[in-house]
Amino acid sequence: MTSRPHPGSATLFERAQAVTPGGVNSPVRAFNAVGGTPRFIRSAQGAWLTDVDGNEYVDLICSWGPMLLGHAHPEVLAEVSAAVARGTSYGTPTEPEVLLAEEIVARTPAEKVRFVSSGTEATMSAIRLARGFTGRDVVVKFAGCYHGHVDALLASAGSGLATLSVPGTPGVPASAAAETIVLPYNDRAAVTAAFEKHGDRIACLITEATPGNMGVVPPQPGFNAFLSETCRKHGALFISDEVMTGFRATKQGGYGLDGATEGWTPDLMTFGKVMGGGFPAAAFGGRADVMGRLAPEGPVYQAGTLSGNPVATTAGLATLRRATDEVYAHLDATATTIADAATAALSDAGVPHAVQRAGTMFSVFFREGVVNNFAEADQQDTAAYAAFFHSMLDAGVYLPPSAYEVWFVSAAHDDRAVQTVLDALPAAARAAAAATAEETS
Ligand code: PLP
Repeated sequence: MTSRPHPGSATLFERAQAVTPGGVNSPVRAFNAVGGTPRFIRSAQGAWLTDVDGNEYVDLICSWGPMLLGHAHPEVLAEVSAAVARGTSYGTPTEPEVLLAEEIVARTPAEKVRFVSSGTEATMSAIRLARGFTGRDVVVKFAGCYHGHVDALLASAGSGLATLSVPGTPGVPASAAAETIVLPYNDRAAVTAAFEKHGDRIACLITEATPGNMGVVPPQPGFNAFLSETCRKHGALFISDEVMTGFRATKQGGYGLDGATEGWTPDLMTFGKVMGGGFPAAAFGGRADVMGRLAPEGPVYQAGTLSGNPVATTAGLATLRRATDEVYAHLDATATTIADAATAALSDAGVPHAVQRAGTMFSVFFREGVVNNFAEADQQDTAAYAAFFHSMLDAGVYLPPSAYEVWFVSAAHDDRAVQTVLDALPAAARAAAAATAEETS
């Protein structure tokens, strides 16, 4: 195995730590979960990242989802460059935001959408709207689902099921967490109990359409439909968070991946990542009557200086228009090839593992058996993953630096990129096995 020298990244990391907490602008990038030095990326093309030391890596992060078509797609770049040349922000309505909204409305159950700049802003705004619409305060979410760093959504389960929650991080007021109920994913009895106890106070339930933030944990058959029905029965809104899955898990998104889309649609949805084409753009949308409660049509206030930015919406539109059936078929086949090879390599090395899929999204759990919720996802051998990760990195594959993340592929992952991943897997699996052996010895 060749350990690739990275003095440039090491120097930049040191300088970054002096001026930025942890040296990064989003915690997982710091490699805290796997140790070592994050690589500072200078450029990216197609499926490949190049770091400041000139090392190349097959990218299995894809900017945590957005880069569906791969990096620096020439046609997307041409449209974005033309948009930049026309000026980068006006603070007025523009044509690209209308076109992108029409595209999203055409491809999803959302009847109307409002643009914002991040997924966090989208979920925060959707929750405010749900509260404003219902006149209620309580929000239900699932442990292991991440919806951005919104106060009400950074809550941890309280002492018992169906009880109100406690702050998940310092800085979240107890009062904000106390309006949130955190439940185990895929647990219908827990959902029923929470709604029976607090139903008349619940404004909304928010869930990832198919969770990807604890690794990929698909909903059990009919689970989303059950959630929607439970909300409807109690006068609460069902929010399907598609920030990660939207235009990514499948062409339609993730909300139908529990196998049941007939007869129901989410009341509100949130989008981000792919729909911004690599720029800061996100959206929330849904039923026209609910969206109609939003200012200036209705009384629920929400606004943003850069919302619907013409460059970001141009990038999103250029991406979505090229996200064809062929693209999703390619993503699906690529995911299958890599997931199967990871399974084979880890099996050969005797490493306990479970590969889970949701459409074109997949992740590898370093533990045995089907993972249905966060408590199960949390039983992983993270030391084994760290060894696996570093072996892959040394061989030129940039995996997410945490065992709880999706391995993202793109339309630009061609045979050469995939072969690089396949070639790296056996040694990485042996490194994981050695780490496990060391832990138990
Ligand atoms: N919702 C989901 C499902 C996400 O995966 C994320 C981010 O990973 C967010 C919301 C927050 O989006 P952002 O990081 O753009 O604020």
